Amino acid sequence: MAYTVPKLTQFDMDSVQEALRALHEALEAESAAVTNETEWKAFRDRWMARKSGMLSQVNELWLRVTPKEFKWRVGDAANEAKASVQREIQAALERLQDASLKPGASDVVDITLPGIRRPIGAEHPVIRTMHEIVGVFQKLGYSVAEGPVVETDYYNFEALNFPPDHPARDTQDTLFIAGQQAKPQRERLLLRTHTSPVQIRTMEKMQPPIRIVIPGTVHRNDPPDASHSPMFHQIEGLAVDTNITFGDLKGTLDHFVKALFGANVKTHFRPSFFPFTEPSAELYVTCFICGGSGKRGTDPCRPCKQTGWIEVLGCGMVDPNVFEFVKDNGYDPRKVSGFAFGMGVDRLALLKYGVDDLQYFFQGDVRFLQQWA
Ligand SMILES: [Zn+2]
Repeated sequence: MAYTVPKLTQFDMDSVQEALRALHEALEAESAAVTNETEWKAFRDRWMARKSGMLSQVNELWLRVTPKEFKWRVGDAANEAKASVQREIQAALERLQDASLKPGASDVVDITLPGIRRPIGAEHPVIRTMHEIVGVFQKLGYSVAEGPVVETDYYNFEALNFPPDHPARDTQDTLFIAGQQAKPQRERLLLRTHTSPVQIRTMEKMQPPIRIVIPGTVHRNDPPDASHSPMFHQIEGLAVDTNITFGDLKGTLDHFVKALFGANVKTHFRPSFFPFTEPSAELYVTCFICGGSGKRGTDPCRPCKQTGWIEVLGCGMVDPNVFEFVKDNGYDPRKVSGFAFGMGVDRLALLKYGVDDLQYFFQGDVRFLQQWA
C-alpha cells in the first residue's frame, strides 16, 4: 500500500524521528522505482503538489497539530523532510538522464524518444526593465554605481538633508536594525529606504565631474498589496559638473523617457519637494497606453486614471546643503552644480507590461514568469 503521512500524536524525539524515518524510507523506495519521465512527474507531484502532496500533509498533520513547546523539534523534522524530497526528486531525474545517455544501461535504448527538456530561464521583468533604463543612461556616458543595502542613518538621511524630525525617519516608514539604542543616531543601521545614499558615497570617492546611475533594492515598512511591497527597486541618477542647469536635467530626462517609452511621448514637469534637491519636480509623460486621451476605446484608461498623464520619476537640482557634506572632495557648492533623479522600477515594469498587481513580481510563480521567457 502506498505510503501516507501519519498524523503525529506524540512529540518526543523518538516518535518524531520514527515518523521521519518512515517518510524517508517511502521516499527512497518510490524514487528508486521511477523509470521514465511520466513516472517521474507523478512522483514529483505526489510529494510536492501544493494541495495534497506529501509535504503539505507534513505541514497539516505534523506541524499544525504540534503544541508550541515541541514546534522546534517537529519544525526541524519537517525541514529535513522537505530537503530530502527535493533531493530525491532531483536525483531521480538525474538517474533518468544518465540512463538515457548510457547505451546498454537498460536493455533497449530508444534513441528516437525526445530527451528531457531543461527549460532555459529568462530575465525577470523587473530586472529587464532595470537593464533597459540603465542602458539608456550608459549610452549617454553614465557609469553604474552600487552601494550597501544595510545603511547608516548618516548616509540614508542626514547627509541627504533630511532634518532630524522628518517623518521618513520614523519606524513607521523605515525598517531599522534592532538593538542599537546605545549608538549615536547617525551610526544606527537600517535597510536603506532609497538608493540615494550611493550619491553621497560616490561623491566621497570620486571628484567631479560625475555622471552615474544607481540601480538597487530598497526597503520600506509597507505591508504588501497590489501597489506596495516592503522590498522594491529604484534607479537613481546623478550628474555633477560646472554649469549644470535645469535645462540639462530637462533635456536628459526628456531623451530618457523617449528612449524608454517611444519618441511620441510628451513630457511635463510639475513642482515638487524632496529634501535633497532644490528646486524639485515630478516628471510626467503622456500615457503610453492610451496615447494621452485617458480612454481605451470607450473604457476609461486605468493606468493614468483617465488623466492622460503618468508620473515617471522625481528629480531636481542637487541642494547645495548636500554638497556641503562632500565639499572637501571638490564639491564646493559655489563652483559645481548638478541634478539628480530617482524612479521606482517595479512600478514602471507594471505599467510597461500591463501587470495589475505588484505581488506577482515577487511570488516566484513560474506560470506568471514564463510569459517573459
Ligand atoms: Zn492612459
